[in-house]
Amino acid sequence: MTQIPDVTLNDGRTIPQFGLGVFLMEPGETERIVSEALELGYRHIDTAAIYKNEAEVGAAIAKSGIPRDELYITTKLWNSRQTDAHTAMRESLDKLQLDRVDLYLIHWPTPEKDTYVGAWLDLEEIQAQGLATSIGVSNFMPEHLDKLVAQSSVVPAINQIEIHPTLQQRDAVAANEKFGIVTESWSPLGRGKADDLTSPVVTEIAAAVGKTPAQVVLRWHVQKGYVVFPKSSRRERLEENMRIFDFSLADDQMAAIDGLEAGTRVGPDPRTFN
Ligand code: NAD
Repeated sequence: MTQIPDVTLNDGRTIPQFGLGVFLMEPGETERIVSEALELGYRHIDTAAIYKNEAEVGAAIAKSGIPRDELYITTKLWNSRQTDAHTAMRESLDKLQLDRVDLYLIHWPTPEKDTYVGAWLDLEEIQAQGLATSIGVSNFMPEHLDKLVAQSSVVPAINQIEIHPTLQQRDAVAANEKFGIVTESWSPLGRGKADDLTSPVVTEIAAAVGKTPAQVVLRWHVQKGYVVFPKSSRRERLEENMRIFDFSLADDQMAAIDGLEAGTRVGPDPRTFN
């Protein structure tokens, strides 16, 4: 079975560098897909309250029989619950059938509402209560991190942001590094929409190293030090996506993929999304 490396967080905990994202899985399909992924050796699942599939993730975990401490489960606080995080956390834990998650994230900063600092202080309490082992944020731009860190006592362990070859968000990654925050890449494959997998740069590297374009792009994330959890509903792609720890990209191949930056978002802009 594939050995997946751990990344160490600023709170002393570790996170598997690779997992499964379950955004936009068809209702009624998530339990089967998560069960298949767990069979294949996936141990890290990234869900969110707004994905409406925490209960299916929880059912797959319960049926798997895998010891809880071998799993890494992330969920996220939805925007409309930023003033109500304690109740939202309880609801997520009930659906997941868990007494703690490994990582709880504020899903978006929603700067216009300006409630994320208060939400973060609640997440600090949730962590102190043992309901979330690590806490972090998602879609936080440098100015949001600066404000959060200035007005609270725990630095986020993780910032989960949109990153793929055509949207690399280097300023946001630099801000994460400044605070010792590990970067997670969401939509690591550009959700299959942008040019990330079809660029000749990627397809030529794939041919040269004997891997698929998806494996090359995922390997680029891993070598950048990012944590990834590509989504797929298909067993053969679940298998393909995890086979990225038996090869490496040379410096010139990494640099060529770095050169694909094009500012192409597949999701909303965190500075305006509410
Ligand atoms: P992704 O980049 O993982 O792309 C998934 C799509 O890529 C699949 O639906 C499929 O069409 C294609 N694909 C998957 N494997 C492939 C392969 N081997 N070859 C070719 N095509 C392949 O997109 P995503 O699901 O948006 O992102 C991954 C995860 O990130 C989500 O499931 C979710 O957990 C997380 N996410 C978080 C946020 C956030 O705001 N925090 C936003 C979006 C996604």
